[in-house]
Amino acid sequence: MLRLYEDSALAIAAHILTAGPISRAGAGRDLDLSAATLTRLVRPLVDSHLVNDSQAGTPLSGIGRPTQLLEIPASEHHFIGVNLTADVTYGVLTDARANPIVSLSQPLDSREPEAVAHTIDSLIDELCAQNGAAAEELDGIGISAGGHIAHRKVIESRFLGWQDVDLPSLVKASSTTPTYLLNDIVALTTLEQWFGLGRSAPNFLIATVGAGIGHGIVHNRRAVPSVFEGYSPTSHLPLARAKGLCQYGHVGCANGVLTTPAVLARASGARSILHVNSGPDSLDELIALAEGGDPTCQFAIAEFGTNMATYVQTVAGAAMVIDVILDGEAITLLDTPWASTFTEHLAEFKSPNLPGLNVHTRSGTFDRWARGAATGAIISWLESQVTGA
Ligand SMILES: [Zn+2]
Repeated sequence: MLRLYEDSALAIAAHILTAGPISRAGAGRDLDLSAATLTRLVRPLVDSHLVNDSQAGTPLSGIGRPTQLLEIPASEHHFIGVNLTADVTYGVLTDARANPIVSLSQPLDSREPEAVAHTIDSLIDELCAQNGAAAEELDGIGISAGGHIAHRKVIESRFLGWQDVDLPSLVKASSTTPTYLLNDIVALTTLEQWFGLGRSAPNFLIATVGAGIGHGIVHNRRAVPSVFEGYSPTSHLPLARAKGLCQYGHVGCANGVLTTPAVLARASGARSILHVNSGPDSLDELIALAEGGDPTCQFAIAEFGTNMATYVQTVAGAAMVIDVILDGEAITLLDTPWASTFTEHLAEFKSPNLPGLNVHTRSGTFDRWARGAATGAIISWLESQVTGA
């Protein structure tokens, strides 16, 4: 079986966290380790109380003595994930498997770094208060944002209008809890790699569509690192037959036809011929108008479905995967009847030599982005626990 880490101790800890509770025999088989090696590597993890060596399980057959199961008790550890968008800060308090316990959001009154850090601290306090815990008891904090992030800094973010911002040092909670900053697409990819589709599919693509476009690739259970992190290299991909216009003047690129403002502009542009300045101004309004029978809004959604299929086929083909996760606020449009163009267009261009794409649509809600940020903190925590065991 493919591992999350080359290093065997880290691979075992990660496997127990993502696949546990699991028997020693099962873990050894999955990671291709002998019983003796497994015992040697697990002992320090049990001694340091990271891993429980409980007697909780019985074999699948139901016959015989209870089997010792290895488990990292996820509910005993707490993490916070925060996702920054241009207007709202989303936060979630999770267990060690990124399961949400409390989710909250706060509007961003200002994008000044100090003000944003203050909002993050108040969100962390509120998340902890609602869970009846103190911020000092947290095991880690992850903060994600769109843009290029390196060396614990936001190097550049067009959504926040930031350059070279050392955000973690401005967040008060970082003085008592390890705090990590990561790109939002990287964070979301990691959530699926560790606790989502990655547990059953070792190769997949995740694409997000909303205010911007982003994608991540996992091959053989490892996230493919990108030197273009934060710069969305598929944003300006030319899409066959697409007609929209992006901010750089490209006709028919992904940004110009798939992003939320592009789709809304397509509908409102046509509507303005008869209804001046009447929107739609949001995806909810676009869907409501389409449901009310507005043909231009129905057309805009149908066109989005076709263009989305072109984008998915292009990127998945180049990434050499058949499993595709679609996420981001605009993906809700695919749930409407006018977006049947998406599956029709996928079928139209299917190669008879390849299996069809498995498309997994996600909720597109922002707490998933925050859970991704928490996953970044969970991974760093796990690595420090194993290294120190
Ligand atoms: Zn473009």
